[in-house]
Amino acid sequence: MQNIHTHAWEPNLHIAAATRAEADRSRGAPMDLTVDFDRFMADNEPFERTAVFGLKAKLTGYWVPDKYVAAFVARAPDRLVGFACVDPTQDGALSDLRHAVEDLGLVGVKMVPMYAGFDPRDERCQPIYAYCQENGLPILFHSGTTFNAAAPLAFTRPWLFDEVAIRYPELRMVLAHVGHPFCDECLVVIRKHPYAYADISALFYRPWQFYNMLISAQEYHVTGKLLFGTDYPFAKGQESIDGLRNANAVIGESGLPRVRPETIEGILERDAFRLLGIERSR
Ligand SMILES: [Zn+2]
Repeated sequence: MQNIHTHAWEPNLHIAAATRAEADRSRGAPMDLTVDFDRFMADNEPFERTAVFGLKAKLTGYWVPDKYVAAFVARAPDRLVGFACVDPTQDGALSDLRHAVEDLGLVGVKMVPMYAGFDPRDERCQPIYAYCQENGLPILFHSGTTFNAAAPLAFTRPWLFDEVAIRYPELRMVLAHVGHPFCDECLVVIRKHPYAYADISALFYRPWQFYNMLISAQEYHVTGKLLFGTDYPFAKGQESIDGLRNANAVIGESGLPRVRPETIEGILERDAFRLLGIERSR
């Protein structure tokens, strides 16, 4: 198993106080955003490899330096894969990214249009996308809603990434959280583009939406594009695995269509890092 979506940060240093306070909305209960390395590794024990990133979004008060992520993954280089973060609204975004890739050894990119307040089609993104496509760097985009009041929902709709994929057909991209609650919109985007994927992180705890998303994915024949992730610290490893394996619990014996075992096990067994072009040797 692999985990394509986790966060590492020191909340007091890297996340503004007002933003930390809003995190309790994420699961409707007090949320501790602390990421302790040992607890992180224990939580990710089920996964052979885990992608790790911070967040960079000036607008909503997230700023995790790439060198922090690089140092975090360097403590377990066989298990952890570091992604850089880019906020294209800030000067020097491309040169910071080049430094993160060429000097710090990060092998993927995380971008959060809604949190940073930019349209994914914004001209300021184009040099970043071109660099990533040229250098085989996958971009994992946040897509779907958030608990942060200042983050505009207008920039998070999955259809916006369709235009990015049309313009950069070889760019490998992952739309996080299957664009919740716009899951069907996300599924039709990833269906069109050979190199567009979605991760199922942080969805299982809305079991009705999660079940319907998986049924839709079966009907659109895109289950092969769904990647496993947790969104640690918002959701933990084992509960995310169990949540996926229990996806049919919400329908009981109602006779509604069932999420097929091969859909579930396929997601858990999928080699996401290979699909995203991330080689072990890098
Ligand atoms: Zn996340």
